[in-house]
Amino acid sequence: MITRIHRLALRLSLAYIIESDSGVVLVDAGIKGEEQKILRRITEVSKGDLRLIYITHAHLDHYGSAAALKRITGAPIAIHQLDEEAMALGETRLGSARNFGRVLAPLLPVVHPLIGPEPAKADLIVEDGDFLGDYGLDARVLFTPGHTNGSCCLIVDERLAFVGDLVTNTGKPHLQRAFAQDWPSLATSFNKLRAMKPDWLYPGHGPKPMRGVELENL
Ligand SMILES: [Zn+2]
Ligand SMILES: [Zn+2]
Repeated sequence: MITRIHRLALRLSLAYIIESDSGVVLVDAGIKGEEQKILRRITEVSKGDLRLIYITHAHLDHYGSAAALKRITGAPIAIHQLDEEAMALGETRLGSARNFGRVLAPLLPVVHPLIGPEPAKADLIVEDGDFLGDYGLDARVLFTPGHTNGSCCLIVDERLAFVGDLVTNTGKPHLQRAFAQDWPSLATSFNKLRAMKPDWLYPGHGPKPMRGVELENL
C-alpha cells in the first residue's frame, strides 16, 4: 500500500492529507470556514475520494470544518468516544492551563463565538488499536489521552505518527505544555507514543514534520 503525505497549513493549525492507492484520509479539519481550501488541496494532490475525516481531538482548530466537509463529500467523521460530545456540541474543552496556556485561556470565551467550530456529529467512534483498513489505509488508532480526554494519534504504516496536539514543534519541539484535561495521562500517553518508535511525527502545529528520534530529546 503506497502512502503519500500532504501537509496543509491552515490558519491556526495543520491538516494532513494521507493519500493511498484507494483514496484519501484527512487528519484534522482546521477552523470553521476552511473546507474549500482543504477540498481544493485534496483535488490538487489526488484523484481519490475523501474516504474519512479523522479528528485527533475536539478543539476548535482541529474539527472546525469537519461538518462542512462531511456535508459536501459525504465522508464520515471519526473521533474517540470521549471527545465525541464536545465535538457534537461545538465546544472546545481546554482543561487546565499551564505556561503560555494561561495567557491564551482567557481569550477562548472571546474567540470561540467568532471562530468556533460548527458542531459535528461523529459517524465512527474509534478506540485504541482500531484498524482503519476499511478506509484504504494501513492505519491504527493510538489512544493518547491527556490534552483532551479523547485525544488519539493515528499511526500509519506502523511508522508515521499523526499526533494532534500531543507533541508540537512550534519553536523547539515539545510535549504539550499549555492545555490538558488530564496532565498525568498526558505524560503516560507521551511514553506510549515514544514506545511506538515512529520514524516520523506529524504534529498539529509547527513548521515541519519531526523525526521520531527527536522524541528521545523531549
Ligand atoms: Zn488542542
Ligand atoms: Zn491545536
